Amino acid sequence: MKAATYKGPSKPYLEVKEVPTPKPGPGEILVRVAATGICHSDIHLFKGDFGPVREGFIPGHEISGWVEDFGPDVKNPWGLRKGDPVIVSWIVPDGICKYCASGKENYCPAAAGRMPGLVGINGGHAEYITIPEIAVIPLEKGVDIYYAAPIACAYGTAYHALREAGVGPGTSLVVIGAGGVGLSAIQLASAMGAYPIIAVDIRDFALEKAKELGATHVINSTKEDPISRIRDVLPDGADVIHEARPEPDLKLSMEVVARAGTIVVTGLGGPKSTFTVNVLPFVINGVRIMGSLGYRPRLDLPEIIKLVASGKVDVRKLVSHTYVPEQINEAYENLERGLHARAIVKWG
Ligand SMILES: [Zn+2]
Ligand SMILES: [Zn+2]
Repeated sequence: MKAATYKGPSKPYLEVKEVPTPKPGPGEILVRVAATGICHSDIHLFKGDFGPVREGFIPGHEISGWVEDFGPDVKNPWGLRKGDPVIVSWIVPDGICKYCASGKENYCPAAAGRMPGLVGINGGHAEYITIPEIAVIPLEKGVDIYYAAPIACAYGTAYHALREAGVGPGTSLVVIGAGGVGLSAIQLASAMGAYPIIAVDIRDFALEKAKELGATHVINSTKEDPISRIRDVLPDGADVIHEARPEPDLKLSMEVVARAGTIVVTGLGGPKSTFTVNVLPFVINGVRIMGSLGYRPRLDLPEIIKLVASGKVDVRKLVSHTYVPEQINEAYENLERGLHARAIVKWG
């Protein structure tokens, strides 16, 4: 099969070549890949921020495709059949530990050691992937399978963060960083009834996209003072701030969060990134600061898929660039230059 494999931490990071097609082992499903997303976490991976990556590793963790084959001993709780459209989760929980039992499967210790395309097991920048069946979630028929790939990372990460932060009808929301996750958050929050929704970024085209996806106000922080602009709209501050940029620092968030408000962080930062928070306003305003990793595949992904299938969230609006596999290094180059809203690679 055709696959994009890791070469090393200097550019070009990847090489597109023929590799053996994997066979599904016990409890695994072979998925024929439709599309994979180009995610900023991959840049951290390529640079070695998550630890050394072996040459030949297949990245790609935002995956949609079709069921191709089943390994032995598959339990198939969703009743999947060959050819069914699916989303592949990069959170691969064991389903039996105390975190899984309490609905926190994104923090399952087993999942930390096997993240397809990120840690341990090959990802989806290929024509096929084998994956434990717990990570295979059915996609509703009628949803565009290619544009659905970002459900497996950008939308999933944004949705879980918004839910954890308590976003619902009437929640005032500021999203800092209108990349793939931030834009997904704006689109989902709009569907969930949040209002107003203020997007902050340094790129005009990203802010245009934010408006298209449901932001009620947009602020280019290189041209305007974001604190006074946000205070004009929300004199008491925002109920929820989502720090979705790759290098979160909480500075703007702490200035504009409402009393008893929540700051939720999804940007991973670099290996040495830290926050500094002024203690007094943090305590006397009862600010809640929380990290949020990924999503709960068996709980969050089906909910997002319903939002998409019902027409409340149009996944075709998020994707700004579509590439063929041979352009994959160019895709990451353009990601690093900040040119994408979200980009996908079509494999099938
Ligand atoms: Zn990702
Ligand atoms: Zn578990």
